[in-house]
Amino acid sequence: MVMTFCSPKADAAALARFSGIRASSPREIARQVAVGRREFLRSAAGVVLGSTLLRPGPFFGTTPQSKRKMVVITFGGGARDQETFAPEGQANIPHLMRELIPQSTFFAQVTNRGILGHYVATASLATGNYETVNNFASLPPESPTVFEYFRKQLKRPASDAWVVAPSNGFNRIGESNHRSFGVGTGARVILPKYLLGAATSSSADYGHLLRDSYETPLYAPELGGNTFELDQMEGILKLSVDDFKTHALNLASPDELSVYVVRHLMRRLAPSLLWVTMHDIDIAHAGAYSLYIEGIRRTDRLCAELWNAIQKEPEYSGKTTLFILPDFGRDADDDSGGNGFQHHRTGDALSRTTWMMALGAGIREGVVFDEPVETIDLVPTLGSLMGFSATFSRGKPIAVLL
Ligand SMILES: [Zn+2]
Repeated sequence: MVMTFCSPKADAAALARFSGIRASSPREIARQVAVGRREFLRSAAGVVLGSTLLRPGPFFGTTPQSKRKMVVITFGGGARDQETFAPEGQANIPHLMRELIPQSTFFAQVTNRGILGHYVATASLATGNYETVNNFASLPPESPTVFEYFRKQLKRPASDAWVVAPSNGFNRIGESNHRSFGVGTGARVILPKYLLGAATSSSADYGHLLRDSYETPLYAPELGGNTFELDQMEGILKLSVDDFKTHALNLASPDELSVYVVRHLMRRLAPSLLWVTMHDIDIAHAGAYSLYIEGIRRTDRLCAELWNAIQKEPEYSGKTTLFILPDFGRDADDDSGGNGFQHHRTGDALSRTTWMMALGAGIREGVVFDEPVETIDLVPTLGSLMGFSATFSRGKPIAVLL
């Protein structure tokens, strides 16, 4: 199979650079993708090749585990390298390239071996197992979530673990139906679109913020579980419904609405485990390349805004580790079953070979690793950093982060 990175907008130089790459197996394609990313970042972001001999960063030495904060951002439904890390894509992610990656430990080969639907894949990230729940049903994950391990083993209250998610279909992601955990022992889930919909009798002014899914426009999930309701916003977040509505009018996208809510959560409750799921990039399903690029640029900016907000919040500054990763990638252009940037239907190696960056407290700055890790390794890694064990996860802690 010839591996190409061509896109409708690709330039001749990019084609020439990749046309010589031949790969015979998904594993080999994944390896070559990782090597490509590693070299892009070494030349453009100034990072160095990581070594297992490197020790973690200095900050955790003075921060006890009980004070550590973890923030996880999922990067928007996935973007291809030619619109992000490759030279022709780097202009779309200036904040990642210039601000965040130089401070990060970057993993260039993160494999997702599970189902490539956004809810089930994000649930898999949150449990450390490849979940098999119906992507379009209002069902909880089957294995315990990171939020349940964290709260039970560290004896943390409900206010210490939160999820902010773009789609109403994510309303059950905060806790599993696993027999080892009971109802109400996971994370509270805030669905900003749902809150905005509940706050507005006429959706005409907010239509651009309220669409639930880019993949299945007719999907209208039922809510259930531990959904955060509008009448709790004022009491818990100290955010008035009127302020929320007024602010939303000025926002360009659902992910901006999510970040607005996250900042209130950080300010008012300062949860130790905070999970933010971005989704704007997935507008690619509509087939408009320009909107897909706009989504990547916005997600890049919002990741930096959240990182900068973390530095300004006394509860977070200096003791927070941030993880950023996509749930999966997008299809290759040359796969006849897919349609390049638009979808993630084929399950090919490119749509499964993603990346992850970690930065902040306890993390070595400016290194890139291309050895393979899996998306299900995130939860055991969070456990090792925070002091709990992800007992039922099939992933394993990433040693170079510990
Ligand atoms: Zn999608």
